[in-house]
Amino acid sequence: MALPVVAIVGRANVGKSTLFNRIVGERISIVEDVPGVTRDRLYAQADWNGRNFLLIDTGGIELADADEVSNLIRVQAELAIDEAEVIVFLVDGRSGLTSADHDVARLLRRSGKPVVLGVNKIDHPNHLASVYDFYELGFQEPIGISSEHGHGTGDLLDAVVEHLPATEEETYDEDVIRIALIGRPNVGKSSLVNALLGSERVMVSPEAGTTRDAVDSPLEFDGQRFVLIDTAGIRRRGKVYERIEKYSVIRALRAIERADVVFVVLDGETGIIEQDKKIAGYAVEAGRAIGILVNKWDAVEKDDKTSQRVTDEIREQFPFMRWAPVQFVSARTGQRINRILPLAIEISNNHALRIPTSTLNTVIEEATTSVTPPSDRGNRLRIYYATQVATKPPMFAMFVNRAELFHFSYQRYIENQLRKSFELSGTPIRIVARNRS
Ligand code: GDP
Ligand code: GDP
Repeated sequence: MALPVVAIVGRANVGKSTLFNRIVGERISIVEDVPGVTRDRLYAQADWNGRNFLLIDTGGIELADADEVSNLIRVQAELAIDEAEVIVFLVDGRSGLTSADHDVARLLRRSGKPVVLGVNKIDHPNHLASVYDFYELGFQEPIGISSEHGHGTGDLLDAVVEHLPATEEETYDEDVIRIALIGRPNVGKSSLVNALLGSERVMVSPEAGTTRDAVDSPLEFDGQRFVLIDTAGIRRRGKVYERIEKYSVIRALRAIERADVVFVVLDGETGIIEQDKKIAGYAVEAGRAIGILVNKWDAVEKDDKTSQRVTDEIREQFPFMRWAPVQFVSARTGQRINRILPLAIEISNNHALRIPTSTLNTVIEEATTSVTPPSDRGNRLRIYYATQVATKPPMFAMFVNRAELFHFSYQRYIENQLRKSFELSGTPIRIVARNRS
């Protein structure tokens, strides 16, 4: 299921980020815990009355080019119009209507997208009168809110949720492997998609497709059906915001939501940057099967140690997905492009792996015998019994005497033992400790 997107638009200082923080709250993702990855509160999952959505603060989208600064709000509005299901248009109830508000309103009205107009900084009921001035912008009822104090934000969210589309069923069959190639701009995602579609033994199979997302590419290889989810943005290439690094995360997030298998595409020529880690971190957090493609390998000057050196660097920079297989490819020369779909099949199988309880418990028993579980003041952790409770990704429940003794380091040891014993390459696994009384 694709997560619907809600974007907050408005000129500087109206309170967009204050509203964003209020809606998102103090939710912290593992991505933000990854060392070297700065917190970025531009987009986050939020929910209201049981509806989940991705919230974007377009105010955080910056343009590198100073000439374009005057255009910034326009770019932000265009991004919202293209990407969001619902737009929250925020204005400042204290400073009153401005011509910039009118400009944005015109763009938004023309788009036909549902717009919820929030009049911010209405900190006191006495201020409510100024809300009426904003009827002039031509939207449905303006909602007076105070992002700082929280007044009215519930009403605003009610209006947002009302406009969210009814949940859509995914349109592909169970046996179709949905692949997303994600990465920052220019790493070669669309080149890779084209190389895959053009490669030998790959059949483009329109019958596996769908009318909803005509830009997804269905294909077949070795009797297995796939669909390549449009992440490269072939559809809307050329928009100003396309080249904004932060924007690529938004696109990646949406693709990850819909994918089974995610390939994190790195640029072999330029190396790893923070944005790559952030994008990969979201895929791990979402529990997807993951492979890493180092593209533009043709352009890298190599000796016999280069691939090992790059692999080591990847392991160091992406410690949260040491289990993800790495392929060195070139969309330009076609080098190892034929390995990509077999790899997708392999990691997709591992993602769906079911381990019989008896086999699982044999491995756990051996693991606890070779490395004694941690203890605290005479109490030693005991794992009585383990069982797999979910797939995609595999999740294991461990029934223990005292869950608080099951420290992260011992969990990691158990995870490593599981990875040694079973085919779990390319898939995250989850371990939960449960007290058995
Ligand atoms: P943005 O540029 O649109 O993201 O605006 P910010 O969220 O950074 O807010 C701009 C300024 O307005 C900050 O000084 C906020 O503290 C203030 N502000 C935001 N919301 C409110 C509010 O509801 N009431 C009042 N009085 N000030 C607010
Ligand atoms: P996207 O923004 O991630 O979709 O990247 P593109 O597919 O548009 O590629 C960005 C640039 O990298 C283009 O100029 C491509 O020609 C170039 N490129 C893509 N793949 C390769 C490759 O394997 N080798 C080299 N040398 N250049 C590549």
